[in-house]
Amino acid sequence: MNNKSGTAILIIYTGGTIGMIQDPGNGSLVPIDFRYISDHVPELRKFGYDLHSVSFDPVKDSSNIDPSVWIKIAEIIEENYYSFDGFVVLHGTDTMAYTASALSFMFESLGKPVILTGSQLPIGLLRTDGKENLITAIEIAAAKENGLPAVPEVCICFDNKLVRGNRTTKMSAEHFDAFYSPNYPPLAEVGLHLKYFANQIRYPEKEKKFTVQKSFDNNVAILKLFPGINRKLIQSITGTEGLRGLIIETFGSGNAPTYQWFLDDLRNFIEKGGIIMNVTQCHGGSVEMGLYETSRQMLAAGVVSGKDITSEASVTKLMHLLGRYQSRDKVVKALAKSLSGEMS
Ligand code: ASP
Repeated sequence: MNNKSGTAILIIYTGGTIGMIQDPGNGSLVPIDFRYISDHVPELRKFGYDLHSVSFDPVKDSSNIDPSVWIKIAEIIEENYYSFDGFVVLHGTDTMAYTASALSFMFESLGKPVILTGSQLPIGLLRTDGKENLITAIEIAAAKENGLPAVPEVCICFDNKLVRGNRTTKMSAEHFDAFYSPNYPPLAEVGLHLKYFANQIRYPEKEKKFTVQKSFDNNVAILKLFPGINRKLIQSITGTEGLRGLIIETFGSGNAPTYQWFLDDLRNFIEKGGIIMNVTQCHGGSVEMGLYETSRQMLAAGVVSGKDITSEASVTKLMHLLGRYQSRDKVVKALAKSLSGEMS
């Protein structure tokens, strides 16, 4: 494509609804060939950017995305980092918040925008939200403020919202407004104009070089508490061979039962070297361990507070840190602090 502006953007198509059109033969949805993306979205030619695309082959429904795919996406960005001004990752919406979180932990000193988007309706349908999402994501990936990338972060751009990827959760399986960021404000106002909120955006430290961490350890589990939870279930999870880390989704501000057996089981897991992080089931707000008796004892047992982290960010952060460090202490220390703006 012609390039009047000198701006180059790489679009990485992993799969998901956005890249689908209706097969004229049988009417079923099939993935488009991304090399011809402008044929489906002719508006892209008007940008005047140098747009390149790479496509996964085969493309993936995002339910099949796992750490090996996060590494593949990160490697594509690493290999092309100095040739492009920004990156747009097209991804299924179902696990987009996990991928955005994982990438945010893998990239250190990221100085360029990595904007994930997708759609609820395929790009080949008349009422699609995919065109607008793609066009806005490209514009944000290309945006400069004072000559520097406006948003050098891993973000999700969806339905006129730009939010930090590791703060985001999919909240609707049917509305165009599918994502929200419960505990962190948007990074830009996406309306008639794109207005970036510099005080909410993270910028890399100038002297540090961009690097990519590529190890994950998936010996982790998420346990969602519910009233009446059975001890056998908890013990079967904490007794899982090789399990190194457990996220417990607790009630309210981080509360859990005070039954002796429950606390004993958590303590046993920690004493054997396991790591437990406390994340709230609420769709907003923070864990405050020690506020109530029902969390004070977990704190005393050595459970780490996840504060206001999302479940998606907590599990990807845990996998990332366990892949990175063998030392339990190092993992616990890094878990408790914000690495990429994922918690307050
Ligand atoms: N199942 C699809 C996916 O996540 C849904 C979507 O793209 O929105 O890959």
